[in-house]
Amino acid sequence: NEANLLHDNKMAAIGQLATGVAHEIRNPLGLIRNYAFLLKRNHKDENLITQSLSVIEESVDKASSIIDNLLNFSRLSDDSAHLIHLKSVIENVIQLNEKLMSKSHMNCQLILEDIEINIQEESLKHILINLINNALDAMPHGGQLTIWLKNGAAGPSIHVIDTGIGIEESTKAKLFDPFFTTKEVGEGTGLGLYIVYNELHKIGGKIEVKSKVGKGTIFKIHLKKDNEA
Ligand code: ADP
Repeated sequence: NEANLLHDNKMAAIGQLATGVAHEIRNPLGLIRNYAFLLKRNHKDENLITQSLSVIEESVDKASSIIDNLLNFSRLSDDSAHLIHLKSVIENVIQLNEKLMSKSHMNCQLILEDIEINIQEESLKHILINLINNALDAMPHGGQLTIWLKNGAAGPSIHVIDTGIGIEESTKAKLFDPFFTTKEVGEGTGLGLYIVYNELHKIGGKIEVKSKVGKGTIFKIHLKKDNEA
């Protein structure tokens, strides 16, 4: 049923983040292993010892910061509004996106103003994850993903811009319907934008779409100035 599928979609998004984290953590762990091995072999070379230890120290810090990020991310239970720094949330979502990391020929441009607002962080993250994943799916052969965060008179807005396949005029009306998908079975559930719409409704935001077939798509999210819990 629908509730289960929504839950599955959220879990899939978190699973994808976890895969990204696993991938990111392998690097520092690999470095630690190699330098520990060197230390075991060359216990007299002062320079090598100092260098190895600082690489190990940096790698441990890097791995812990990645884990902190994930833990911050998956605090699913409490989603009341609190003061957040929008720029950091966007950077966090980007850093943990496994699809983005695994795609070559993908340029990612972040234009982010410093803005703090009271908002339900978890909802906002799910909105961003779904929009970013769609943007990446729309660019199977690479392209540019741009995220633009800026302040306006009515409140902050976030534009998720891709240079992908674009959206046909005739399908625009169905975009936010549950189960509407143009993707292959197994690739799309048609729930991404439905979640985006619902979560935005919850936090009092609005969404707009601009698209040209073969050129790309812009999803514009408008957030309220402040959201009380
Ligand atoms: P899903 O991604 O599982 O198909 P969504 O609800 O997220 O479900 O999206 C519904 C449909 O909207 C997609 O199948 C696709 O046809 C279209 N779509 C969404 N975002 C984009 C985009 N950035 N570029 C092109 N088409 C898009």
